[in-house]
Amino acid sequence: MPSVVQRFAPDQEARFKAQRRETLAVINVTTFWMVALLVLAFSVWDAFVDPVNWPKALGWRSAGVVVILGTGFFQRWCGRSDWAPAIAKVRFAASTVAVAAALAVVKDGFLVGLAGLVAVFLASPYIAVDRRDYIWLNAVPLAIVGAIMAAIGLERFVVINAWCFLLMALVVGFLLTTVFEITNRRAFKLEEALSREARTDSLTGIDNRRALDERGLHELRRSARNGKPTSVILLDIDHFKRINDNYGHTVGDRVIQSVSHNLAATLRATDRIGRWGGEEFLVILPETDAVEASHLAERMRDAIAVVPVVKQPIIKTTISLGVASVFSHGVVEEVWSDVLKAADGALHQAKAEGRNRVVVASARVDSANS
Ligand code: GH3
Ligand code: MG
Ligand code: MG
Repeated sequence: MPSVVQRFAPDQEARFKAQRRETLAVINVTTFWMVALLVLAFSVWDAFVDPVNWPKALGWRSAGVVVILGTGFFQRWCGRSDWAPAIAKVRFAASTVAVAAALAVVKDGFLVGLAGLVAVFLASPYIAVDRRDYIWLNAVPLAIVGAIMAAIGLERFVVINAWCFLLMALVVGFLLTTVFEITNRRAFKLEEALSREARTDSLTGIDNRRALDERGLHELRRSARNGKPTSVILLDIDHFKRINDNYGHTVGDRVIQSVSHNLAATLRATDRIGRWGGEEFLVILPETDAVEASHLAERMRDAIAVVPVVKQPIIKTTISLGVASVFSHGVVEEVWSDVLKAADGALHQAKAEGRNRVVVASARVDSANS
C-alpha cells in the first residue's frame, strides 16, 4: 500500500528537512515564554483543588519553567537551526514531566488536572519535524509520565483513565502531524518548482537572466573571500536576423536551442551558462582568469562554427564573444555591473572587427570600489 506521505528524493528530502528545522528554530526562539507562562498559570488551578500541597506543585512547575526558558534563550543565543529539534525535545520533555510531577503532588491531580497534561501532549505536532520525529518527541516523556504514575501508586481506575486520554491525545497528535507533513511537503515541492521555473529560460531550459544575476553576485562574493578571479563571457549569434528572415521564427528558435545545447557541452562542471536575452548568452566562470576564459571562449566559438547547428534545413552560424575578468572586492553589485559592461564592450568590438571571434576586455575590471 503506498504511504500517504510521499517522501522526496534524497537531496530534496535533505533540503525539506533543513527547511523544517529552520521553521522549528523560529518557533523555539519566539514562543518558549508562552509555554512557560501556560505551565505556570495552572498553579491557580492547583491552589484551587489542593490549598495545602499546591506550593509543592509550583516547585515542580517552576523547575520546568527554568528548563523551558533556558532552552529558549539557548536557542536564541546559539542560533543554530540544526539543534532546534533536539532543543524542542528537551523543552517538551521538561514541560510534560513538570506538569505530571505537579499532578502527582496535588490531591487527585491525575483526575482533576489530567486535561492540562493532555493539552501539553496535544501541542507536540506543532514542534515535530515530521511523523518519525513526532514519535521520538513523545516516546521519552510518555515513558517518564508512565513511571511517575506507577511510582505514586494511583488507583487502577485513575491509571486506566489517564492512559486512555493520553493515548487518545497521541493518536490525534499523530493524525495532525500526518496532515501537517502532507501539507508541508506539498508547499515545499511547489515552492521549489516555482523558484526553479522563475530562474529557468523556457525556450532553452538553461538559466535565465535573473538566475545569472544571482549566480554572478554569489560568485563575486566568493571571489572576494578566496581572492581568485571570476570571468564572464558574453556571446551573441552573428547575423541572426538573417536566419529569422530566411527560415522563419520557429527555425530561429531551434537555432537558439541548438546553440545553447552545443555551448553547454563545452563547459566545465563549475561553469554556468544562461540566456541573457534574445540570441545572447552569458557564461560565468568561477575561479578563472582572463587567459583561461579566452581559451574556453575560443573552444565555444569553434564548437559553433565547425558543424551546422541545425541539420534540417542545414544551417551554419557563428558567434562573437566578449570576455571580461575581475578580482572582486567592494560592492559586488557594482563590480557585477562593471564586469558585464566590460564584456559587452568586448563583444561589440568582436562584432565590429568582423564577427566569429573572441575579444578579451583590455583593462582587467579591478573593482572600481577597491
Ligand atoms: P549581429 O551579428 O550584429 O548580432 O546581427 P544580428 O542579426 O544577430 O542582430 P541582433 O543581435 O540585433 O538581432 C537579434 C535578433 O534576434 C532580433 C530578434 O528578432 C531576434 N530574436 C530575439 N529573440 C528571439 C527569439 O527568442 N527567437 C527568435 N527566433 N528570434 C529572436
Ligand atoms: Mg546577433
Ligand atoms: Mg543580439
